[in-house]
Amino acid sequence: MPEDDASSPADICGCAAAARRESELDADRYVRVLLPLPLPAVLDYLAPQGTAVPEPGSFVRVPLGTRRLVGVVWDGAGGELQAERLKPVLEALPVPPLRPELRRFVERVSAYTMTPPGMVLRMTMSVPEALEPARARRLCTLASGAAAALCSGAPGHRLTPARRRVLEALRDGASLPAAELARLARCGPGVVRDLLACGIVEERLVPAELPHPLPPDWRLSGPVLSPDQTTAARRLVDNVAKGGFGVTVLDGVTGSGKTETYFAALAAALAAGKQVLVLLPEIALGAQWLQRFRARFGVLPAQWHSDIGAAERRDTWRAVAASRARVVVGARSALFLPFPELGLIIVDEEHDPSYKQEDGVIYQARDMAVLRAAIAQIPIVLVSATPSLETVVNVARGRYERVALPRRHAAAELPTVRLVDMRGERIEPGRFLAPPLVAELASTFAAGEQALLFLNRRGYAPLTLCRACGHRFQCPSCTAWLVEHRFTGRLLCHHCGHAEAVPPCCPECLAAGALVPCGPGVERLLEEVTARFPAARSALMVSDLLQGPRAAAELAEAMTARRYDVLIGTQIVAKGHHFPMLTLVGVVDADLGLTGGDLRAAERTYQLLHQVGGRAGRAEHKGRVLIQTWMPDQPVMKALAAADRDRFLEAEAAARRHAGLPPFGRLAALIVSAGEADSVDFAARALARAAPQLPGVAVLGPAPAPLAVLRGRHRRRFLVKAGREVHLQAVLRDWLARVRVHGSVRVQVDIDPYSFL
Ligand code: ADP
Ligand code: ZN
Repeated sequence: MPEDDASSPADICGCAAAARRESELDADRYVRVLLPLPLPAVLDYLAPQGTAVPEPGSFVRVPLGTRRLVGVVWDGAGGELQAERLKPVLEALPVPPLRPELRRFVERVSAYTMTPPGMVLRMTMSVPEALEPARARRLCTLASGAAAALCSGAPGHRLTPARRRVLEALRDGASLPAAELARLARCGPGVVRDLLACGIVEERLVPAELPHPLPPDWRLSGPVLSPDQTTAARRLVDNVAKGGFGVTVLDGVTGSGKTETYFAALAAALAAGKQVLVLLPEIALGAQWLQRFRARFGVLPAQWHSDIGAAERRDTWRAVAASRARVVVGARSALFLPFPELGLIIVDEEHDPSYKQEDGVIYQARDMAVLRAAIAQIPIVLVSATPSLETVVNVARGRYERVALPRRHAAAELPTVRLVDMRGERIEPGRFLAPPLVAELASTFAAGEQALLFLNRRGYAPLTLCRACGHRFQCPSCTAWLVEHRFTGRLLCHHCGHAEAVPPCCPECLAAGALVPCGPGVERLLEEVTARFPAARSALMVSDLLQGPRAAAELAEAMTARRYDVLIGTQIVAKGHHFPMLTLVGVVDADLGLTGGDLRAAERTYQLLHQVGGRAGRAEHKGRVLIQTWMPDQPVMKALAAADRDRFLEAEAAARRHAGLPPFGRLAALIVSAGEADSVDFAARALARAAPQLPGVAVLGPAPAPLAVLRGRHRRRFLVKAGREVHLQAVLRDWLARVRVHGSVRVQVDIDPYSFL
């Protein structure tokens, strides 16, 4: 049909039937496109003349205002607007379409979290370059004989630390673009250039799509499983073989060999031709995990986390979409990758709070993983030594199946746990280790064994004050003290990243030498250990001092090789590590996590301390855990000492059931924020006036959020509590629709809030 005829057929011939036919024809050419923007709905476009209408899921480029954007063709009929008012789709991109189950997933996550669907879609297409036709690239590799050349010590071939890091990054035949290589090796581009110039590193032009990496080999045999492990593995493998949706909780004590056990299920899924997704809480800590995967399946899996470079991200996204990547291990955002053949999801350390994403789209990745598995009709395994109360309750309700590993692998026994009642201990000012812990450290070192000291606080001291005038250093944009970091000589805000140099004198009264640190951070603890045990070799394991996963892996290797006697760290030491000679764990301040109004404070303290304690005595030497606390009578401390997890969980469950809190009721937080205190209060009052008054729904607030000012924004908080029968999202949607707030005010909805800051 010629173009001008299509404008308005009814006007031309005045025939209703013809008009209907024409508009039906047009309707066939309607294309609904979801764009990765915070828009409330999909937009209508027209398929270009003379081309096939792109199928739902196709990635298409469309005009929006003056921009050209990539979006995804969505399901359902369009047709709100007349055809002549619509713009045509510009082109379809040569990428496999987004599968229906992923489109349903986007919709469900959007509805659950109350985020515009486009913002959820944006997470599935987080690598815009992956959607464009690939181009050839220049990649660096290690030249053959490079190592020998370096060892010869010839001029220009000196092995500086920066060069060593470059070579490390290229180990195992890795190939990377020069910029990416410099970034990974934490060196300037000049270091890479010099290595290229002297022929130690080579650069080659490689075709756009990398050759397929070898897939993990499920035929390789793993270790011989213990009888417990065999029973557990068989259940997981059966579920994979059966297919269909089902949640299994692999509940095994620390060191019971949960990883080897779920590897069996992973192998079964691979053998069945399926893709597998493994979520880990902080992939940066996964170096030991990756080595184990390689030992079991011969190659490394594809990885997805914030620390991978742009080129790898692009390759991985495409490899997943094209089914070339068979196993992906990743942080929570890996859940939004476009797997076409996903057959199994494993969520390791399912209780870990880092599964909750707190900004942008606020979601709990473990819960959304269950949702994705349900939509895709595949099995999912939740793995933990300390399952979350939510998961435990789902097992009790019969919704999840539980598979247990009650014993440590081989001869290893669980460590003994002892509380150190700080109320009865005498400690010099400025020191934080009580005599019983000091004595245990001494005997550990004397026996040639290793220790771990855990304190969940980065930096040197959480508060610095002036002895002369009482001045305290506070963040200019948050309700928070600045934390001194002595290694970098700075005062840092742990909430917004504000940093300033430690001044030579008090900025308030100008007194010199009057600034005193209050309380301990890991850096200060290191000082104390060094003072008490000058011969002990100690290392700090803290995220801000370790540059990337490789540095963390190196430190872990050094610990395994017993180049250190004691590791001092924050929660990053708690997970995953397996150090055979580590026999003593000291928890320096067990009460830290119990303050604040977080409803999961006790549960989290239990999980974290149990997890840290689980690092002790994992091989043939028996482990000991000492927990310093001012509250030894708290149920959580008693449960830790008695290793009575189930009684603790029962008490926790009873308390939450009584209070109607999750998982026995629903909870949401509304954070209202603005640059000006007045506007936020005005908006909060307007919201309060319109608050829902429904049976089974209670609205608490507005109250200043515990961090009343964060990044310069004033914050007020509502908590909405409801019974499980209430459709909380609908209640909130209705409430928010009835209130207009000024454009400078932001209202954020957090369904199932975890952070109560
Ligand atoms: P968990 O994850 O339950 O804490 P791991 O999976 O880390 O436990 O296992 C603890 C240690 O025991 C690891 O070093 C692991 O390699 C080893 N292990 C577990 N199961 C076996 C097995 N069947 N044969 C040999 N070694 C095993
Ligand atoms: Zn701040």
